Amino acid sequence: MIIGSHVSFGKDQLLGAAKIAVSYGANTFMFYTGAPQNTIRVEIKSDITSKAHNYMKENNIDINNVICHAPYIINLANKEKIESWNFSISFLKNEIRRITEMGVGYIVVHPGNALKLDRMMALENIADAINYIIDVETKPMLLLETMAGKGSECGINIYELKEILSKINLKDKVGICLDTCHLNDSGVDIAKFDDYLVEFAKEIGLNKIKCVHVNDSKNVIGSHKDRHANIGLGTIGFDNLINVIYNPKLKDVPKILETPYIGEYPPYKLEIDMIKNKKFNPNLEEDVQNFYKNEPNF
Ligand code: FE
Ligand code: FE
Ligand code: ZN
Repeated sequence: MIIGSHVSFGKDQLLGAAKIAVSYGANTFMFYTGAPQNTIRVEIKSDITSKAHNYMKENNIDINNVICHAPYIINLANKEKIESWNFSISFLKNEIRRITEMGVGYIVVHPGNALKLDRMMALENIADAINYIIDVETKPMLLLETMAGKGSECGINIYELKEILSKINLKDKVGICLDTCHLNDSGVDIAKFDDYLVEFAKEIGLNKIKCVHVNDSKNVIGSHKDRHANIGLGTIGFDNLINVIYNPKLKDVPKILETPYIGEYPPYKLEIDMIKNKKFNPNLEEDVQNFYKNEPNF
């Protein structure tokens, strides 16, 4: 099983991120190169990167399973404000350059928001943008994330993702990142996840799935809300999420937790424990708080 969570990428960049992942008992991780809400970024320091690679080797983290996530404010779907569309494209080109320097192979991108634009036009804009972003030299794969359908989000079902993919020139450089909370909120019943995979296999192909965001949901199926819950504490439930994580068809796909902090504490170490043991801990919230209170230096 390849499992981790999102971690922060501070001044120690990839090395700092890898150390946090190891403290959670993870064997992979996902990071933003800066704050998820903005596009202020610093350049990558090569000496830190080589230290990080050594540290990861010593700690059983394969760089090929490490994922970067683009900031939320990137919008490839709407061209009406052409400066922001162009900015999103140039930002992603630079972000891909930065992660290439670190040897990271995947960048997850939210397809975008149509805003007042016709949805078919929006899907076309997304593909156009990706055709500008990637070229034959591009090493990392761009992963489009399945979205909940909040507001005017695009990429909210298999058909929209297929439509975008069909218009991409360099198809082997683009894949998909599933998000269980987003799937639930977009109307997919995670209790019938195998049916979803059958449809996905037929329309797109399972080999396109390169990452799974494992989150419970605070809302019911089809709510179009996108509010993540801790594993087993939401409407999807522990057993359904375990079935996704251990699904043999997705065995080699990295699973990334993006569940909310409990108070000021990260839940990931204890959530990963539950997942490894396949046993739900109904006292998760209390135990996370106690764990970090008792180990202030952890
Ligand atoms: Fe995301
Ligand atoms: Fe996600
Ligand atoms: Zn989300």
